[in-house]
Amino acid sequence: MSAAISTDVCIIGGGPGGCATALQLARHGRACVVLEKSTFPRDKVCGDALSGKVMRTLERLDPQLAMAVKAESAAMPSWGVTFVAPSGRALRVPFSRNTGLGEAPGVILPRSRFDDLLFQRTKDTNAVTCLENHTAKRFDRSGADWRISCTNGVSVQARLVIDASGANSHFARNVAHLPMEPEHHAAGVRAYFNGVRDLDPQGFIELIFLKDLLPGYLWVFPLPGGRANVGLGLRSDMVRKRRVDLRTLLLQLVQEHPQLKARFTEAKMEGPVQGMGLPLASKRRSLSGKSYLLVGDAGHLIDPFTGEGISHAMISGVYAADVAEDMLSHGDTSAAFAERYDERVWKRLGKELSISTRLQRMAHKAWLFDFVVDRANKNPALADMISSMFTDLDLREKLKKPGFYMDLLLGRSSVT
Ligand SMILES: Cc1cc2nc3c(=O)[nH]c(=O)nc-3n(C[C@H](O)[C@H](O)[C@H](O)COP(=O)(O)OP(=O)(O)OC[C@H]3O[C@@H](n4cnc5c(N)ncnc54)[C@H](O)[C@@H]3O)c2cc1C
Repeated sequence: MSAAISTDVCIIGGGPGGCATALQLARHGRACVVLEKSTFPRDKVCGDALSGKVMRTLERLDPQLAMAVKAESAAMPSWGVTFVAPSGRALRVPFSRNTGLGEAPGVILPRSRFDDLLFQRTKDTNAVTCLENHTAKRFDRSGADWRISCTNGVSVQARLVIDASGANSHFARNVAHLPMEPEHHAAGVRAYFNGVRDLDPQGFIELIFLKDLLPGYLWVFPLPGGRANVGLGLRSDMVRKRRVDLRTLLLQLVQEHPQLKARFTEAKMEGPVQGMGLPLASKRRSLSGKSYLLVGDAGHLIDPFTGEGISHAMISGVYAADVAEDMLSHGDTSAAFAERYDERVWKRLGKELSISTRLQRMAHKAWLFDFVVDRANKNPALADMISSMFTDLDLREKLKKPGFYMDLLLGRSSVT
């Protein structure tokens, strides 16, 4: 039998959630081991959009790394989002009032590159031991500790497990008992294209709400050099009910849909259409237990309306590291102490996730998208207010209230 590596904290997974956890633990001076099943650089199926929240978290964790991400030649600075309503009419919503000035709030960068930058920086950090090509497959308790066994025979003895192993986490499903629930889960597919017409020169990401795809949407996210990440996502219960193959649907839509086909006549697909699940935070689940914490997709923390999950993985990773440090320094790894992690995550993300859950539930109404987009296009004050909703949660909360739409309909002053 091979010897066990001994550590305080074993992190499963070296994606954005696992790396943020390790980097924050290192800031506390706490050593950890990261087990990662792949060898970097590795790909991750994603839309590749790094929101302002990702960039702010990165700046706090490691300013040099944030600068390296922004300076990447493969990165497209992103200044806003264009919503395309089922009617085909579009609304351009900048992320900030100062579009084009200073640094762009968001970035679009292929995950193969972003994750590699993050992982290499984590690997180079003194207190962190990163073991690539190590797949964690068994989690046994031995006394107060965990014994984590990898498929290659290596095992790790740890006081705490922080599971950041993503949407298909074995630990989350079998140890923490978080099942995949189709109504709180989405399926997504994406492919890279070059030669797509009319990509936004300011890197605005496009969310295209096609009538037959609601409550899901299709996206076109521009990349440098005329490339684009194009994909679509739909709640898993709808995928089952409609018996739809999303890979086929994506290709059909870009080739045949009247709103899209002209833009794709010259486009060439690079590589296959690839798919992956999105565990959505439309239901509040427990993120911890006796001597373990769940981070990012393993804790089902993806925004149920937008599909954004990288920032939530990193933010939850930072909190997991803070609480893990508290647990170890107090010598208390109980489930009751670990709940402090849940409290911090929900305090930070709970409000926006509940707004997004309401928005997702309204998102099957094609007329509502048409109506809001038409009104906002005629009314610069309303367009400005929608833009501010990206940074102002109180404003965003208005969107989930039926009164907002009634005011809009009647042209009342709260929205005009
Ligand atoms: C189609 C699609 C589009 C998306 N678009 C966006 C977007 O544009 N912007 C956005 O913010 N979010 C997007 N998301 C969500 C985003 O991809 C995830 O929320 C994010 O990757 C979560 O990070 P993570 O660190 O929790 O998990 P991951 O990024 O999945 O990382 C988990 C890591 O754990 C490793 N691992 C898994 N099992 C084991 C094991 N047993 N042992 C050791 N290692 C293991 C994996 O190799 C991986 O490196 C999208 C998701 C999908 C599916």
